[in-house]
Amino acid sequence: MKQSILANYHCHSRLDDGHGELGDYVRAALQKGLHTLGFSGHAPVPFDCDWTIPSPLLPEYLDTARRLKNTYRDRIELLVGLEVDYIPEIITPAAAHIRALNLDFTIGSVHFVGRLNGGELWTVDGPPEETERGLAETFRGDIRRAVEEYYSRMTAMVATAAPDIIGHFDLIKKNNRDGKYFSEEASWYRAAVSRALDAVAASPCILEVNTGGIVRNTSGALYPSEWILAECLKRNIPVMINSDAHRPEQLDGYYVEAARILKGIGYRELTQIGGEGRRRAAL
Ligand SMILES: [Zn+2]
Ligand SMILES: [Zn+2]
Repeated sequence: MKQSILANYHCHSRLDDGHGELGDYVRAALQKGLHTLGFSGHAPVPFDCDWTIPSPLLPEYLDTARRLKNTYRDRIELLVGLEVDYIPEIITPAAAHIRALNLDFTIGSVHFVGRLNGGELWTVDGPPEETERGLAETFRGDIRRAVEEYYSRMTAMVATAAPDIIGHFDLIKKNNRDGKYFSEEASWYRAAVSRALDAVAASPCILEVNTGGIVRNTSGALYPSEWILAECLKRNIPVMINSDAHRPEQLDGYYVEAARILKGIGYRELTQIGGEGRRRAAL
C-alpha cells in the first residue's frame, strides 16, 4: 500500500456516536502511519437525535480537536471538521452558524428523507426495521419515490451548500442488501444517480469512497458502488478514501481494497485536503 493514501477525514468519537476520545484516534492514526486525520463529529441538530454531538458539547469537541492539532502538529496533520446534515429548512453545510465555526472542512451528508407519522424525521441510516417503517409512513411503501427524494436532496445539497466532501453518496442503499427493495440496474435508479453525479461534477466537492459499511458491517457494501465510481471517473470527479470510523482501530479499514478497486476502475490519484488546501495523492 502506498503511504500517500493513508489519510482519513471521517471519524466519530464518544462525543457523538463513536467510541473513544479524539486523542485515542490521534494515537491510533500515528500507530497506523496516517499522515492526515480529519475529525468529523456529527454537527448538532435542533431536534432530538442520539447520534449527533449535543449542542452543549460542541465547544468541548472543537477545543479538544484544536488543542490536539496544535500539540501533534510536528507528527501528523490534524484537521478540524464536522459531518453536517443536509435537511432543507433545518440545517445545511453552508448554514451561517456552521460557517462561523471556521472549520478546516465539512462533510455534507443526507441522512434524513421525509417525516414519519409522528412528525419526526426519517433517517435512511437506521436499522432495517426503520427503513421499513419510514418507507411505509413517508412514501406509502413507494421505494422509487423515496430513492428519488434522497438523490434530489443530494443534488440540491451539492448545488446549494457545496461541502468540501460528500459523505456516503449512495447511503440510501444501506438496507438494500441483495436488492431487497430495488435493483441498481433499474433505469430510473441510474437516472437519479446520474443527475446527482452531474451536479457533483459541476461542483468543487470531493466524493468520498466510504468503507464504513464494510468495516462496521452495517451494509456490507462500499459507498458508492463500483459502477458509480466508474461514472465518477468519466466525469472527472475527485475522490478520496475514508473509513467513517466509529472506533480508533477502524481508521484504515478496507483501505488497501478500496485503493485496489479505484485503480481497477482507472483512477490514478486521490484528492486530499491539507492545511494548505487540496493536494493529489498517488494511488
Ligand atoms: Zn454519515
Ligand atoms: Zn459519519
